[in-house]
Amino acid sequence: MPADPDQGASILRKGKTTMIRRIVVILLITAALSACATPAGPALIQAPPSSAAASSTKTIVVTYSVLGSIVKDLVGDKANVVVSMPNGQDPHEWEPSAKDIEVIMKADLIVQNGLGLEGGMEKTLQQAHDAGVRFFTASEHITVRKVGEGEGLPSGDPDQAVGAEDPHLWMDPVDMKAVVEALAAQIKTDLGIDLSDRAKDLEGRLDALNQEVSDKVKSLADANRKLVTGHESMGYFAQRFGFKLVGAIIPSITTQAEVSASDLAALKKLIQDNQVKAIFTELGTPPAVAEAIGQETGVKVVELTTHSLPADGSYFTFLRNIAQVIVDGLK
Ligand SMILES: [Zn+2]
Repeated sequence: MPADPDQGASILRKGKTTMIRRIVVILLITAALSACATPAGPALIQAPPSSAAASSTKTIVVTYSVLGSIVKDLVGDKANVVVSMPNGQDPHEWEPSAKDIEVIMKADLIVQNGLGLEGGMEKTLQQAHDAGVRFFTASEHITVRKVGEGEGLPSGDPDQAVGAEDPHLWMDPVDMKAVVEALAAQIKTDLGIDLSDRAKDLEGRLDALNQEVSDKVKSLADANRKLVTGHESMGYFAQRFGFKLVGAIIPSITTQAEVSASDLAALKKLIQDNQVKAIFTELGTPPAVAEAIGQETGVKVVELTTHSLPADGSYFTFLRNIAQVIVDGLK
């Protein structure tokens, strides 16, 4: 028996620490052995084998994070959902790595937006399509919005001409509801997973979100409901919630188009003529250009996160934030 009680306690602590270390080492060895037992590729993309059925878990690959959030809400733990583009990357320009391509090629189902949103992924998606991977294309299940007369500043780019198809369908929660309904049906057919209860719940929540955003923007006077954005990303939102699209810094439905001096001069005039209250910049908007237009017109420049998820990864928080920033910016 130790004479010094403190020393005894210290030995006890030491003994405990050593035991914990031993347990950690044993766990690590076990984990390493089980990792070796399964093929390296699929093990990286599948959920941890928490049940005996883990090896039969289907993998759904979603191209883009905002769409991915809704797919995760729909699917829950009924399948493994992998999002290709890291959140915060510009979906109009992101390109997959060799590892990303491997995951895509092994998917049980690929969920894509369509309408050219996945510009840098198109070669890979075509390759997967040719190899017989199953696809779900969100834009095939909504009424596609086309660029209208007087929106933006037509300058000969096919992506910004009147009639160009707008890929930003996630800006309308009612369109997302249609996507959920169609996707649940296809997952049942293709993967044999019944998501009808989850789909019903999610569709109800999207209806409620639509009502909430609609109520929120009602606080804005009609005269203030005018949008100038980084590129033409807010068309579906404008159509659903009653806003006028005045123009965009990059007058295109992608962030990849060129901006000319004459386009910018025309935009400045539109901002002044329409007495627009704020210029909303986005992912892919050149900050110097936005600042210059703001200074020259005396209109404030506000950041709007239209192409990436908030910290909690929720589509619902995403759209609420957008509505709040717009209402605060334009009141
Ligand atoms: Zn965009």
